[in-house]
Amino acid sequence: MLLPTTCPVCAAPGPAPCAGCAGDMRPAPALPPPAGVESCAALLAYAGAGRELVARLKYRNARASVRFLARGMADVVTEEVDVVTWAPTTPARLRARGFDQAGLRGSRSGEAVTCGFVPGLARGWGGVVALCR
Ligand SMILES: [Zn+2]
Repeated sequence: MLLPTTCPVCAAPGPAPCAGCAGDMRPAPALPPPAGVESCAALLAYAGAGRELVARLKYRNARASVRFLARGMADVVTEEVDVVTWAPTTPARLRARGFDQAGLRGSRSGEAVTCGFVPGLARGWGGVVALCR
């Protein structure tokens, strides 16, 4: 069964996100890397339409946006990437949500940058990590 795609932010039929909501999203500000990490980059500011898109993936299972987010994350990585991985969600959240949204974005980002994808970081912060040379 095929279901029509709708924008996770505004529910308009069509791509996820729709052009209007994608245009309302702002790039993430430059952030200092966490301790032990050489550099980091983020795709979207966690505000407005960008926040809604990510929140609806995380909390409402709106997976239609995964391709958009993964492609965007692959595009913000400017260094050569050896492997992509992610910090997994907790077992309780995995049971409650039924999927690990960071793992889903990570595996798709790994495909987008045509490098390996390796699960296995320890839990610490939720996100996707590209390991660069
Ligand atoms: Zn929209």
